[in-house]
Amino acid sequence: MKKRSLSLLIAVAAVTLIAVLSFVSPVQTKSATRAQITTDVDATEAVKHDVQAAKTVSLKSMSYAIKGSGSTASTPAAKRWTSKTITYKISGSSSYYKAVWNAAVSHWNKAGVVNLVPTTGKADINLATSNAPKSAAAGVVGVTYSSYYSNKSLNGLKVLASAKSYVYRDVSTKYHYSQVERAHVAEHELGHALGLEHATPKHAIMYYATRDQTITTSDVKGLAQSYK
Ligand SMILES: [Zn+2]
Repeated sequence: MKKRSLSLLIAVAAVTLIAVLSFVSPVQTKSATRAQITTDVDATEAVKHDVQAAKTVSLKSMSYAIKGSGSTASTPAAKRWTSKTITYKISGSSSYYKAVWNAAVSHWNKAGVVNLVPTTGKADINLATSNAPKSAAAGVVGVTYSSYYSNKSLNGLKVLASAKSYVYRDVSTKYHYSQVERAHVAEHELGHALGLEHATPKHAIMYYATRDQTITTSDVKGLAQSYK
């Protein structure tokens, strides 16, 4: 009996303590949990040609394979999305540039690391085309704005919140980029939107200047490491 009343007393004391604590401790304010978002800008330089290469393959007839980069290094990454399934939306009415972005999406999907899926709603990644803004440095052929949560990390990388990539129409026209070469610029920018940084191997799609590069084993390795 004595034992039972003691345990009852302990139980009452515990409940009282919890009640007092929850009364005393302030409810967490909304501002404390608000996401802290930072935006980065990654540009791609044009590789300048005065005339377009004679051999122009159309995007439709192009066969596609992941190539070796001539290096065992993996493309570095600083950010990633939470999930391997990432949504995208292509803006603009140009069927020419839709084909450019669709090629970039399909080639990254073929790498087999992430799964890019189209959406009509709010997309993780927005893919667009415009003329270069006046503020852009000369010879910049594409750019990606990627926003990430500065207070979150996953696999040692910052977690992406949103990204928007552009291929600059006027600059690619000025340097006579073919449609296939514009798709390479799109692949490079989409690589940034997936969290990749610039790579050292000259054949890697994430090399800082883009024209005839394609997605290489180095780029795929880097992506696979960040999404493992
Ligand atoms: Zn770049």
